[in-house]
Amino acid sequence: MTTLYKSKALCVGDKFHTPNKQAISVVAYSFADGEAYTFCEVCEQNISQFSFYDEDRGIVYTKWEIE
Ligand SMILES: [Zn+2]
Repeated sequence: MTTLYKSKALCVGDKFHTPNKQAISVVAYSFADGEAYTFCEVCEQNISQFSFYDEDRGIVYTKWEIE
């Protein structure tokens, strides 16, 4: 499984995951607060991100992280 090992290494540390957009499901708590879930196309693990409201930046989305 050399290929799988190589692709997992791409997401090690704080590197960006590649969310599968078709699989994203969103849970909204308010107009700005929410969570989104999907899986990473590269490492194939479940990942999630959060959103919240910031007075200066508006709605902010965190980076995708493994659950
Ligand atoms: Zn990944």
